[in-house]
This record gives sequence, C-alpha cells and structure tokens, in this order.
Amino acid sequence: MRRVRIDVFTIFPDLVDRFASESLLGRARAAGRLDLRTHDLRAHTTDIHRSIDDAPFGGGAGMVLRPEPIFASVEAIDPPRPLYLLGPGGRRFDQALARELAATPGFSLLCGRYEGVDQRVRDHLVDDELSIGDYVLAGGEVAACVVIEAVTRLVPGVMGNEASASEESFGADGLLEAPHWTRPATFRGWDVPEVLRSGDHGRVARWRRAQALHRMVRERPDLIAARGGLTAEEVALLETVPDVAYPVSSPNAAQEHRAP
Ligand code: SAH
Repeated sequence: MRRVRIDVFTIFPDLVDRFASESLLGRARAAGRLDLRTHDLRAHTTDIHRSIDDAPFGGGAGMVLRPEPIFASVEAIDPPRPLYLLGPGGRRFDQALARELAATPGFSLLCGRYEGVDQRVRDHLVDDELSIGDYVLAGGEVAACVVIEAVTRLVPGVMGNEASASEESFGADGLLEAPHWTRPATFRGWDVPEVLRSGDHGRVARWRRAQALHRMVRERPDLIAARGGLTAEEVALLETVPDVAYPVSSPNAAQEHRAP
C-alpha cells in the first residue's frame, strides 16, 4: 500500500493536526495512507519563557523566528526530505508538484510566523521554499494544510474514484474541468443542459471538452498558452459552443502555435 509521510514543524501543531483530522485527510490517516507528524518548535526552546522569536538585527518592524529551536527540532527528528520552508517568495506550489510529492515516500514542511525565519534556516537547514500564492499570510500553517490536502488526495487509494484525479482540472490533458449539474433537472426554472440527459456518452464527452475549452478561453487564457495553444480539433470543438470570441483567427494558426 502506498503511503506518504509528512512532518510539519510549527508553533501551532494543533492547528494543522485538527485540520487534518476531518473528512478525506482524517480517513487517509485512519487508513494509514497519510502518516502526518506535527512537531512543536517550542518543545526545543531552552529558556524559561520558551521564547521562539526575537527582534531583527538592524532594526525594523516585527519579530523573527530564532534559529536554535528550529535546528534543534529538525535535528531531533531527522524528518523525510525535502524539507520545505513555506514562504510567500518561494517556488509556486501547483498541481504538478502535488503529483510529484504524492509519488514520494515523504517530505517535510516548516511553517514560519511573524516576519519569518532567521536567514540561516533558509541557508543551511531547508532544501527549498514553497509559496501557495502571491499574498501574505500570518503563518505557514494554512499553507502547510493546502499542501497536505492537495498531495494526500493524489495518493493512490485516498480518493474513492481514481478516475477523478486524472479527469479533473490540471489533469493529463491540461484542461480545466467541465461544469457539473445534479438533480433536480429543473431548479427555479433553470434546466440542466439537454445533452447531459441524452445518454449518448460520446456526445457528452465531446460537449464536456468543448465546455472546458470555452471556460478556459474566457477565464484562464494563460492556461491555454501554457499548454501551447489549441489544436485545430479543439478550435473546431470550441466553435460548437455559442458566442465564443476565440482570439486565434484560423484553425491552422492555432495548430502552428501548439507545442510539439
Ligand atoms: N515578512 C515576510 C512575510 C512573513 S509572513 C515577507 O514580507 O515576505 C509569516 C509566515 O507566513 C512566513 O514565514 C511563511 O511561513 C508564511 N506565509 C506567508 N505567506 C505565505 C504564502 N503565500 N505561501 C506560503 N507561506 C506563507
């Protein structure tokens, strides 16, 4: 059975632990597919006040996490590597990295707080730095939860339906997922598209691809550019969706822009 071990170093271990006790993550832990170990950085403070932070050299606002408790915590455990520091300036965490990490035996996360960690932690202890987006959180714990959840759901056996992982957004074909409907067929006068109730699986599959493409053209053209544009077949599919103003003038032009 595949399992992933994730060690988290934080001054709020309960925050991460509680988050990972419910729903999919709670079940993955109970089934032994996620081995999550949280470590309290304060356990390795030596002074009477258990102080974890101090003022920055050179002055300036805020406090900085001291290096000793962080080095001591990590060295006491010898956790699975890579050890990632969470930080707004790090490498952007995305679905491709989630897939990569889900295929490893384990990795570790270090959560900053306040103004962040002493630079020596970055220089001499961690392997890399991960960001969950271009905004600033108060601490790395929520970011750690994001990474843990995105990775764990990709560990084989964690999601009930294995097909959902390959067919969803950012899956193998680089497309976003098509929209979903469920019962009732008519809600407040809004009907579910007829094709989805037709029972014609081929038609449903084509329609869903066209919808996914349409959604990307409208909302995430950057993702289309990232996968090297659209094929002629995809442009043709898009033209079956009403009111599309697709920016590429001809199907041939689109094909030329597609990466090999
Ligand atoms: N002073 C820092 C921000 C510190 S925020 C700066 O200006 O860059 C405090 C902690 O929150 C960081 O050490 C990091 O662990 C976490 N954090 C904040 N934003 C994050 C993000 N976008 N992704 C991952 N971690 C983040």
